[in-house]
This record gives sequence, structure tokens and C-alpha cells, in this order.
Amino acid sequence: MLDLLLPQRCVVCGLGGTQFCSTCLTRLPRIEPPLCERCGTPTAWPVRRCRECAGRRLAFASARAAVLYDDAVRALVAAWKERALRRLAAGAVSVVIEVVPPPKADVVTFIPPDPDRELKRGHHPPRQLAEQLARRWELQLATPLRRRAARRQRGLSRAERRRNVAGVFSAKGAVPRSVVLIDDVFTSGATVNAAASALRKAGARRVEVVTFARVVR
Ligand SMILES: [Zn+2]
Ligand SMILES: [Zn+2]
Repeated sequence: MLDLLLPQRCVVCGLGGTQFCSTCLTRLPRIEPPLCERCGTPTAWPVRRCRECAGRRLAFASARAAVLYDDAVRALVAAWKERALRRLAAGAVSVVIEVVPPPKADVVTFIPPDPDRELKRGHHPPRQLAEQLARRWELQLATPLRRRAARRQRGLSRAERRRNVAGVFSAKGAVPRSVVLIDDVFTSGATVNAAASALRKAGARRVEVVTFARVVR
């Protein structure tokens, strides 16, 4: 609704007449192999574990992301969180479809919103992403995850992030064996790991994480 009242400008470059222009879509920094098979970090050659994930206990089997979290992607994600712009969701979905091979799984689910923040915004990019990806991958969408309020992750160290999200998620009902877990941005992996752990406790045997963007150190 708000879309109609605002002059349309590309959220990345400011070009008029569109929420997100095709040049910026083309330029999004795709993540290409070789990758760490486990955590999805770009590596010099294909590896099964990498410096990022070796020694970490991960509840998910693999993580994949479509684009690197650079300044353009940051602007896109911020605008997408703030306003429910359909063109941004469509752009993000198209790049995930292009870059990430379709997962073999029973269902698609997503990181639920923080209960405090959803009320203010009324829309949730990870849900939009999961709904559209489920359709494109021809998989069912499931919503077993519940989340209670926690401190924001922003500004916390990696160890603090892990502690902050531990126990925030729970899963309701019987969870299928194999689940694709969607989020918008993979930062330290602490959030998706905590949610994957809740899915595993509720019966999932395998959780594959797919995000639109990924922070690479
Ligand atoms: Zn643009
Ligand atoms: Zn790794």
C-alpha cells in the first residue's frame, strides 16, 4: 500500500521508476564454488570443513547462500525489512534459484520473527522468501518453529550470539525428517544453528540452511 505513495527508486542505486533495478540485480555478488561443503564459506578449493566451521558443533548439515553481504545487499535487505517491497522479494528469490541447487527435503520452513519486532513491522522477509522458494522448489511450507523474545544479535560477539539465541527456539508438533531452513542473512550462523537444533530435537534428521545473503569474514 505504502509502495504506491512513494516515488519508486532503486533501493541500491537510486535509479527512478523501480524499487530495484535490473542492473543492480545483475551485479549482486553471487557466491560461487568452491565452497566448504558443510558451512558454505567460499574457499580456495572444495573442502568438507573449513577454518570457519572446524571444531564447531553444527545442528545443520549444510548452509548455502546466494550472495555476499556487501553494501548493495545490505541496502537491499534493510529496505526489504523496513518496507514490504514485492520487487525486492522477487529479486532475492530469483538469485537464490539461480545460485543455490534445489534442496532435496520434505518441507521448507523459516526463522520466525522476534515476537516484539513482528508487531511493529507486520511483514517478515524470511517468511516471504520461504513461501516463494517452497513454491519454486515444489516443496511444502511448514511452520513448526516458535521463538521467544531475546536481545538483538547485532553488536554481539560470536560467543555472545551463541549464548543469546540458545533456547530461544522450540518446534511444535511432529517435524518431518528433512527440512530446509530459510533466513535472509547468515551472519555468524548462531541463529540458524539454534533453530536447526530445535528442529532436530523435534524429530528432524537433516536440516539444510539456505539464506539469501551471507557475511564472509
Ligand atoms: Zn539499481
Ligand atoms: Zn566450513
